[in-house]
Amino acid sequence: MPFPVYHMGVNGFFGLGFRKWVDPAVIVLANIVVDLEVLFAPGWPHSHRYWHFHTFLVGGFVGALFGLVCWLFKGLFNRSMRLIRIPYEARLWKMVFAGVLGIWLHVIIDGFYHWDVQPFWPYKKNVLRQLSHGIRQDVWQDRIEVICLVFTVAAILLYVRAVIVFNRKKAKTAPSGDNSTHN
Ligand SMILES: [Zn+2]
Repeated sequence: MPFPVYHMGVNGFFGLGFRKWVDPAVIVLANIVVDLEVLFAPGWPHSHRYWHFHTFLVGGFVGALFGLVCWLFKGLFNRSMRLIRIPYEARLWKMVFAGVLGIWLHVIIDGFYHWDVQPFWPYKKNVLRQLSHGIRQDVWQDRIEVICLVFTVAAILLYVRAVIVFNRKKAKTAPSGDNSTHN
């Protein structure tokens, strides 16, 4: 999809909603990695078929590798998440899982939205897009956009919740520090 904001909402929702198992930063950033393909692809209407990143097979590998690379920068991730007030601790398996899941969610949405995506490559038919048979293209795509926007709103709410949890945790640890300065 040409508008990464739609993907950010869906991936942000799963990242923040399932923070215990999924790295919220990696799952969102995975959208950028997978769409690099669109920048290099020969152009419409085959813009998702250059490196096969927009497939479960290659995308899964790329996502796992991306998670691994992110883990090398775990210090940066820890600091950045503290800055935006999300309770967080970088873990290798969570980052790898988030990389794979992030690209797979992206492939699912693009698979529904674009004809040229081949989610099950090397099988070439886009089974997801075929589900739209009998529905006008613009109506179908509008529906997907609305679903993505609903996820975006939910993701924003989850972010607010994460910030509240972060602040609460911080407040719990703060009094002992304050006492030591007063005493
Ligand atoms: Zn895409």
